[in-house]
Amino acid sequence: MISKRRMHMLETALRILAGLVGLFFLVLGIGFLTLPEVLATGFFVEPARAVGINAIRGDFGALFLGMSFFCLLGAVTIHRRLLVVPIVFLTLVVTGRLTGLLVDDLPVVVADSIVIEFSFLIILVLAVVTFSAKKDPVKADLTVKAFFSSRILLGFAVLVLIVAGIFMSQKKIGMALVNVIARQFAQLDVVGDLPDGLHVGLCGSGAPLTDAKRVCPCLFVIAGKSLYVVDTGPGSTRKLELMKLQPGNIKAVLLTHFHSDHIGELGELMLKRWAGGSRQDPLEVFGPPGVETVVRGFNLAYSLDSGYRVAHHGPRTVPPSGAGGVAKPFDFAAGKEAVVIIDADGLKVTAFRVDHRPVAPAVGYRFDYEGRSLVISGDTLPSESLRRQAAGVDLLMHEALQPTVVRTLSRLNQASGRANIANITEDILSYHTFPEEAARIAAAAGAQHLLLYHVIPPLPVSILNKTFMGDAKKFFNGPITIGVDGLLFSMPAGNKKILKKWLL
Ligand SMILES: [Zn+2]
Ligand SMILES: [Zn+2]
Repeated sequence: MISKRRMHMLETALRILAGLVGLFFLVLGIGFLTLPEVLATGFFVEPARAVGINAIRGDFGALFLGMSFFCLLGAVTIHRRLLVVPIVFLTLVVTGRLTGLLVDDLPVVVADSIVIEFSFLIILVLAVVTFSAKKDPVKADLTVKAFFSSRILLGFAVLVLIVAGIFMSQKKIGMALVNVIARQFAQLDVVGDLPDGLHVGLCGSGAPLTDAKRVCPCLFVIAGKSLYVVDTGPGSTRKLELMKLQPGNIKAVLLTHFHSDHIGELGELMLKRWAGGSRQDPLEVFGPPGVETVVRGFNLAYSLDSGYRVAHHGPRTVPPSGAGGVAKPFDFAAGKEAVVIIDADGLKVTAFRVDHRPVAPAVGYRFDYEGRSLVISGDTLPSESLRRQAAGVDLLMHEALQPTVVRTLSRLNQASGRANIANITEDILSYHTFPEEAARIAAAAGAQHLLLYHVIPPLPVSILNKTFMGDAKKFFNGPITIGVDGLLFSMPAGNKKILKKWLL
């Protein structure tokens, strides 16, 4: 039999431990409320865009703050039974974790979380039991019994059975889902669902530095029912398809210049358009002089593959005439900074010079359709011709590089002995535009909305967005959006609205 004094010491110690558990949950809860993406990384959770961040902020924040509330209240006041609330949650958490260990092919690292959560559970249970035992041993016995009452155990057993039933039926559930998903994909047609107007989506909003949220540059433009793609950066074809666009419907590709981050996936896109759409015509690829070399190269590299496809699927499914691409070079007349390259079905596309030296020529594009307009900068320093061409535009999509952060990265690379990376990082400062400069251009052009894309450096968590933006908002009164893959801007014909939508 434990002496009264010892029981008191034990009870106090467990009460302090329960309070510490509450404080730990409090820190986590506040962390999830204020820095959800950072905390989520520690919990191996990856949010899907802003909605995911919001769910983590709300749900995880509420779980930890709620448990903290009852832990602290139970530890500080005499109402130790309030600890039953976090005990119930922790029991379910540990049950879920253990179930996952059996079915999820998990790395050992999860075992740490289980040990920690199980320890918390034991502390809280003991805190309740010792408190009751100190007060009244008979009551304590009842409290222990209450935890293991037949109704609670029965409820738990039912829960285990339901979960086990679902796991046993995984194959069948998966098969049912295949049907649902396949039907959804067959019915989806983003182009057909949009109202008449000018729409632009980001199938690549990043640059060569790897960014989990952004692949290399790629934008698709929908004017009425016509689909165009501007630049085909590595990784972008997959993004385009994930955004429910059919490569088979692409009318033409427009290249801004021939850096690899803008052309790397031209071959894949040509193949997908041809095979996916049974196209009989090769893909038209517009660009300044040099586009012939790029298209010829991709055609050659894919020539063996297209032969295999025809041999395997037959010419009716993949007509040989539709394989690859055809270059549509354009040039500027002497002294001119712009040239109209497409004028059809109410759409006018103007190519204009930008300054991305030593890359020359490099161009940007302006799209005009039914009174709505869009300018895409391509890669450039602040450019006068771009400012002129962007006059009165609805949406200016301008490349942007954050110089302070890039300089810091360069210094860090230098310090860690990666001199070549440090030099490249330093060099890129000389042929891109800073967010503040893009904002000044948007203001001077009288743009309605500024979107920053070709984002350098990577922004893995959105709390970095403000750092990236710098003082840009001081120079432009309209809205500024930092581009991220999956975003779609819609500009319906006949009004001035610019609507944002997520396709990923
Ligand atoms: Zn470039
Ligand atoms: Zn680039």
